[in-house]
Amino acid sequence: MAAGVDVIVARLNEIAKDSGGKLQVIVDKFEATSQRTGGKPAPLENVYAILPGSDPKFAKTVFLLSGHMDSIPSPSSIMDAQLDAPGADDDASGVAVSVECARLLSKAGANGRGTYRATILFAAVSGEEQGLLGSYHLVDWVKQQGYTVGGMLDDDIVGADPAPGAPHRVRLFSGNGEIDDADSPSRELARAVEEIDGRGAIRMIFRVDRYGRGGDHYPFYKAGLPAVRFTEPLEDYNRQHQTPRTENGIEYGDFEKYLNFTFMGNVVRDNAEVLRQLALAPAPPTSARLKGAVTPDAKVSWAAEDDPERAGFEILWRETTDPRWTVYDSAAAPGETVLKGVSTDNHFFAVRAVGKNGARSIAVPTEMERRPPTLPTPTK
Ligand SMILES: [Zn+2]
Repeated sequence: MAAGVDVIVARLNEIAKDSGGKLQVIVDKFEATSQRTGGKPAPLENVYAILPGSDPKFAKTVFLLSGHMDSIPSPSSIMDAQLDAPGADDDASGVAVSVECARLLSKAGANGRGTYRATILFAAVSGEEQGLLGSYHLVDWVKQQGYTVGGMLDDDIVGADPAPGAPHRVRLFSGNGEIDDADSPSRELARAVEEIDGRGAIRMIFRVDRYGRGGDHYPFYKAGLPAVRFTEPLEDYNRQHQTPRTENGIEYGDFEKYLNFTFMGNVVRDNAEVLRQLALAPAPPTSARLKGAVTPDAKVSWAAEDDPERAGFEILWRETTDPRWTVYDSAAAPGETVLKGVSTDNHFFAVRAVGKNGARSIAVPTEMERRPPTLPTPTK
């Protein structure tokens, strides 16, 4: 593990030199305990490369991209440090995406072709296979630093695309959340990613993760923050969480030779473009409400902090069965829009902010004040 940290830090320091001193590299040492550490505290290290935002207020909002640098052989031998666990796909691929995005975005900033309003943090975390330890720690760390999380992109198993016809669309997992009749911030981040990168690049999956598996977006998602997971189109289980060996002519193990660098390059661009646009966009509305139940018109109202770089807002709607938003109307300032002749009950609604530069925030779905239906008094 220490060697992995050293390689990543050395590479990020090189990238930082080319960024005109903007990119800051931090090694965050901590201890964590889980069932999979045998109940004993394990010393761990996360690596962060931080590109500070240029907007005095919005710089306290952070967009994160994370891959995990630990790997395992078979889960039954998880604490056996003697076994080889190459981990090329799970998850050196995600770490490579994080480091390469740090290079692309910090270079664009240094050339004066782009300064980002919000802060971007490129992470390589540890202890994922021991219970998402590095990611749980990262949630706390960003809070302690006083950041608001604008969005978190977890890249885990993004290096291979073995099915014929590659490259295929990368899968993007997002959880439903717990708001009645509205989607989670994670779902809204997923929609923003698809809109930015295009339907030809992203396959949205409305599910928090693959069955029986977890990932580093989960601690952020459970904290109510916008967090999604990128994963390759179709996984080969002979090549992950396997102790390297050959059995009955089948080779097991997570080796670099199975990676598809064309596919990985596309994943890098998908992540970098999302971070670039969201870090240039105004903050999303702080709240959005729906009124007008049992009346002919739906009324959408929203609040937002002042922002001189904002052009206005878009009021979004969709059929309750549609996965994607469309724009219903725009507005210059926070307030209320009446959707004439539109029932509150037949669509979902949301609001997002639009910058003068054209960049859009993630959407904030409206919440309706609820009144329970009148029920009959129980008879004794
Ligand atoms: Zn993984």
